[in-house]
This record gives sequence, structure tokens and C-alpha cells, in this order.
Amino acid sequence: MEIDTYRIFLRINENLSEYDGSENIKMKVKDEEIVLNSVDINVREISVGGKPVKFTTDKEKEELNLEGRYSGEVDIEVKFSAKVGQSLMGMYQAGSSKHRMISTQFESTGARRSFPCVDNPGYKAVFYVTLTIPEGHEAISNMPVEAIEKDGKFLKVTFKPTPKMSTYLLYIGVGKFTQFSRKFHNMEIILAGPEGTLGDPDKPIKFAEESVGYYEDYFGIKYALPKMHLISVPEFGAGAMENWGAITFREVLLLVNENTSTSTMRRIGEVIAHEIAHQWFGDLVTMKWWNDLWLNESFATFMAFKVMDHEHPEWDMWGDFLLSETTGAMMGDSLEQSHPIDADVKDPNSVAQIFDEISYGKGASILRMIEAYVGQENFRKGISRYLREHSYGNAKGSDLWTAIEKESGTSVTSVMEAWIKRMGYPVIEVSGRDNKIKLKQKQFRLNGTTTDQIWPVPVTVLGKNGKTSILLDTATKEVDVDGFIKLNVDQTGFYRVNYSDDLFANIKSNMSKLSKYDRFGIISDLFANTVSGNITLAKYLERVSEFFSETEYIVVQELASEMGSLNNLFHDRKDLAEISKKFYRSQLKRLGEKKKGEDGNLSILRGSISTYLAILDRDYARDISKDFSRFETIDPDMSGAVAVAYAVSTNDLEGIIEKFKSTRGDENKLKLIAAMGRVNGRNNLEKVMDLIKSGEMKKQDSIRFYGSVLVPWENRDFALEKLEQVVNSLEDIFVGTGYTSSYLEGAIPLIGLKNKEGLDAVIPKIKRSTTEKGIKKGTELLGIYSKMLEKNSL
Ligand SMILES: [Zn+2]
Repeated sequence: MEIDTYRIFLRINENLSEYDGSENIKMKVKDEEIVLNSVDINVREISVGGKPVKFTTDKEKEELNLEGRYSGEVDIEVKFSAKVGQSLMGMYQAGSSKHRMISTQFESTGARRSFPCVDNPGYKAVFYVTLTIPEGHEAISNMPVEAIEKDGKFLKVTFKPTPKMSTYLLYIGVGKFTQFSRKFHNMEIILAGPEGTLGDPDKPIKFAEESVGYYEDYFGIKYALPKMHLISVPEFGAGAMENWGAITFREVLLLVNENTSTSTMRRIGEVIAHEIAHQWFGDLVTMKWWNDLWLNESFATFMAFKVMDHEHPEWDMWGDFLLSETTGAMMGDSLEQSHPIDADVKDPNSVAQIFDEISYGKGASILRMIEAYVGQENFRKGISRYLREHSYGNAKGSDLWTAIEKESGTSVTSVMEAWIKRMGYPVIEVSGRDNKIKLKQKQFRLNGTTTDQIWPVPVTVLGKNGKTSILLDTATKEVDVDGFIKLNVDQTGFYRVNYSDDLFANIKSNMSKLSKYDRFGIISDLFANTVSGNITLAKYLERVSEFFSETEYIVVQELASEMGSLNNLFHDRKDLAEISKKFYRSQLKRLGEKKKGEDGNLSILRGSISTYLAILDRDYARDISKDFSRFETIDPDMSGAVAVAYAVSTNDLEGIIEKFKSTRGDENKLKLIAAMGRVNGRNNLEKVMDLIKSGEMKKQDSIRFYGSVLVPWENRDFALEKLEQVVNSLEDIFVGTGYTSSYLEGAIPLIGLKNKEGLDAVIPKIKRSTTEKGIKKGTELLGIYSKMLEKNSL
């Protein structure tokens, strides 16, 4: 079967709640049956070549089966109607009455919820879209508008045909928008959002221009469409989505105003760059099947950091890459319940569960490792060849390795396969002396078990005269080094290291030779080795205390967050809390008051450390919470800390809710939601649940409260009591994403540490195919943390 075109006509009713549709699908078939995908669509009539045909519906398989067999070029006509959905998948209503719009989210299987189609990324086609919409509204799709005709109280909007593309990339948006457009090279970049929400349009458009300019050079291929919309959607399950030429975002990941913090600004730049990378890698060339989803996501993740680092070197994007992508992936991949990057996806609905830290962070970290292995220019040429050879078509992961091999003359496939097909990664134990070290690799698992699996590890060794590289492809190896200092130079490798006491002492005396990434790596490895039980908490604290006066952003940020996590787990360890407070206070003293024009990294650190300290130190919280009355006008990097401080020091939920209702912008609201989880008392927490039910809190943001309420020890009983209700609600809102599963992964250990029996009683009620992975990972983590607490009890 080969599909040529879809001609889709939708007539949307006045209050944007239902539509009538008809479509014409032109395809070539060779003596075969015709099967279309369709979910929750009322199909009235199907004809082939002008003749009505009978059809049956298979709900389970989400299919319409047309009677008979067909050959040659066929024209299929379908007449149907459907409701615009309330969950955030398919074609759905987004936003409250004032800002109501229709938006679509089709990845992975949402298109079939909006019109019958062959909903498989491998079947690309040209789409002709025509929408009849109520007067006073505008419509956005992948391509520019070709014509608008008046039709009574409606408008008929016809769009230009798309290039050949996959169904999951089609976009339809209808609403009352503000749009701001700027010409760039041969295209228009258009920022769009519900009326009156755009803020400062210059920043997001600038990020888009930086990305398009960079990619056109890097890939050697021009952006393919005449325009690119960046659309702010008021309710959105995913963070952002790369629909070709009509990219959608949550407001907080796109729009900039006077309350945008430094870290959110960077995140906006990174997310825009990520989605724009997909316009080539994903949209122009698309994976054949969902098992290669990781390649799309890893690549876009990796490229986004590359572009933003190039355009804004002062941001230290590779530091953020290590902090967020690599660290998150190493955490998830050290569980027995992890999965290989190249996951087996038979059923497209199960793809939702692999939108995780393995597909994004581990894949991106492995691409970074391979780029270092073949060289930046060879890597670039390989990517460019792959995109040129498969434009407007589909490809597999192996096509990319072949292209990189052809350009670099280096065998990539064998190394890639080992890292992609196997889950997990090694820890390398280093012992010996500073002129001869002994390396021993074994699988790193937080639960303390291991396997006899080994990896071909490109290991880098720092000695007193610089860096050397070796391939560690055996379990053990002895290496001669002149003045050994550290393994994994600049943390480009995806492995942990555990040093003997002698060698750690040696690191201490050579601290000045280490880069900030090296120092980050040492701390990150110490933490992982503590959680896994390789070293004790006491040894961890003794070793990290060497870094308390550290001044580099990523090193301080990592240490601050590790201390924060440990205090959440060891909730009643006064000694740990005291040491942490000492560290936080000394850092805040160093950072001082905000200075005009200071480095953004200092400002981010001041905000995050203030939050950690406010949680541990009531006096400090009381002190900074005085600024809560000026919440919207204080430094946006500090306002999150001030909200949390206000919550823990006053427990005044009413005050927080009042602010929540009056403040504008999702970023401010999210900071207040995080603070709501910090107040205590069942009445208070019930009030927040009411706020969610009433629709005053966006559905997409409710997960922020469910996440924050878990953390305070006193609130975990409430989180347990509501767990079933929360899971049901998240399942409705985030259909087709992995959000519920990853929520459970975080929730189960925290709840279970407080009330294991209570948790065990609820688990059977929340167990289903879409939550199973998260329950297993969460349960494994609970076991790991319980063991760590026991081992380190006083
Ligand atoms: Zn992506």
C-alpha cells in the first residue's frame, strides 16, 4: 500500500465542541484489503471509487476494515463526525472560556482520533486541509492559508498542500490568536498564542532564528516550508511538539515576559531548538517505525544543547546537559527495571512508555560519546548525508550509522550496537598507584546486584601530562599512566567510577588540574555510589565536604541538589540537615545580593539554594518570606524560593491561592503550585484538590502539585490516600504519554518510606498496562532507598 494524498474537510461548530468531516484518500494498492485506523469517530459512510462499501469496526485494534480486496489506484471517500476531546490527545479543547481554542496532538496515535487514516509513520502522504470555522476565529495548520471564503456565519479556510509527511505531524489549530511574524531567510517565523498572552515576542523568535540559521548550515539543507509557527497552547500534555511548520508548546516553554526567570529563559531556548531540530530530523526524514523513536529524541536533545551552546557560550549548556540529561539517564538506567535504548515496540500505543530518560538522555549522551569518537566534522557530514539520502522518506537507526561510517571511515556500528541494544552501563573500579592503575568494570546497579555483562567503553584517563584514551573492552585491564589523576575526562563517557581511598586522596591533591565537569563528575559518582551502598553516607559527606567552597555553577548545583534529595530521604537526620545548612549558608554568603548585569548562573544558584535552605531552616524561611507580598515584582530567579519559604513558614494556603488567582503567566502560577504542596494540614490540601477540580488550575499543571505534596514527610499520608484518584486523573489528562508512569516512579519510594503497608494495599488498584513500568521502577527504588537508610542508620 502506498498513500498519495489525504484531502480533509472539517466543519467545526460554533462552540468548538464538535465537527463534521469528509475526506478523500488516494492510495495505490496491490490486491489487498484496506484497513484504516480510527478511534472514537462516528463513521457514517465509506465509498471506494464512488461506490459505497461495507465496513466493520475493530475497537481493540482501533481499525476500520473495508469489505473486499482492491488493486490499482483507489479513491476512498469517508463521511464522519466526532467530538472535540477534553483529554490532551488527538483534537482537543484547550483553555478556559476566554482563551478557548482547538489544538491537536497526534504523536504517537492521535491522528486516528480525529480522522480515519493509515496512522503509521511509514506511510507518508500529501495533506490538503480545509477547515470551516466560526466567524471571528482563525485557523493554523502546517502550511500557509491559500484562501478564505465567507460561508454564512462561518469561514472556509483552505491551506496549501503539505509536502509528503507522516500523519503524526499534521496540525490543526482554531482560536482567537494574536500572531507576530518576522521574515527570516526565505521563510516567515510566526509566534502565535491566545489573544493577549504573547508577552515579548522578540525572544522566542530570536531563538528560532538562531536555530534555523545554525541547522541550515550544519545539515547543509534549507528549511523546507515557507513558514514556521511557534504556537502557545494553554493546555498541553507534552511539553512541546514538532508538527511540521506548526510547532506547539506549553506557554511556560515558549512565552517570555518580565517574570521569566533565567533558567526558564534557557529552557525556552533549548526547547525551541529541540523542536526545530525535528523539522529536519523527524519531519523531513522520519523513522520507519516507533522502535527508532529514541533516535529522533536523542538527536533533537543533543542538537538543542549544541545550538544553544554555540549561540550562548556563557550559559554553559553542556553543564546543563550533564546536570539534566546525563544524570537523569544514569539514574534511570541503573535500575534493574530499565530498558535498552532500542526498545521493542510492537504496538504503537506502548510507545508512550518509552518517552523517557533513556530515549532522550541516554541516547543523547551516547551520541555525544560517538561524536567525540569519530570527530565533530565527520559526525556532521554523516548526519547531512543521512538527511539528504532519505529526505521526504523514512529511515532506520542503522541507516544513520552507515552514513557516519561512510563519512568517517570509522566503524561505528559495533560500538553503537553494544550501547543501544543492552540496557544499563558499567561502573569502573580503579585501584593501584599513580603510575599503574587497575581498571575493573561491572554493571552498575543501584540495588547492589550485578551481571557479568561488559561494554566496549571508550575510557579517557587524566594524568599529570594530560589526557589519554583507551578502549576498555575486557572486564579488567592494567594501564600505565604518568601521574594518574582521574578517569572520564570532562564526563564525556556514560559510566560511573569508584576510586580506592589512596586514589581519592590523590585527586584531592590535584584538584587544580580538574575541569568543572570533572569536579561535577566526582560528586555525581560519589552520590550514586552512596545510594547503591558502595560507600557509606559518612564517607560521602567526608569526601564532598572538600567541595563546599566550590564556586562553579554546575558543581554547586549538583551538590545542592544531592543534599536536597538526601534530606528528603533521611528526613529525621539532624546531623545531615546541619551539614547541609552549613553548605547552603556558606554558598549564599558567597553569592551575596543580586548585582546588576551579574552572570546568570549566579542568579540561578541563588534561587535554587535559597529554596533548599528555606525547607531546612525556618528562621531563614521566615526572613525571605517577607517578600511574598511583592511576589510579582521581585527577581524572578528568587520568587520560587520566596513562595516555598512563605508556605513552610506561615502555612497560609489562602494567601497562596489568592496570589495564584490574581497572578498572570504560567511560570508564576507553577511556582505557587509547587509551594501549595509544602503547606500542611488535610483541610488545606483538600482545598488545593478543589482548585484542581474546579478547573482554576490547568489540568497540565495539576501534576506539579501531586509531585510537590509527596515531598514533606507530614504530607505523604495525604498523597497515599489520594494516590488512586490522582492516577485516574493523570491517566485521563495525559492519555498516550508516559507521565503517569513516571509520576509513580517518583511517588512510590517517598510514600513507601512512610507507609509501606498502606502503599501495598493501593498498588493493585492502580496497576494497569500503562502504569506497570512506573510501579516496577518505583518499587525497585523504594527497596534501594530503604536499604540505604538501614545501612546508614545512626
Ligand atoms: Zn522531541
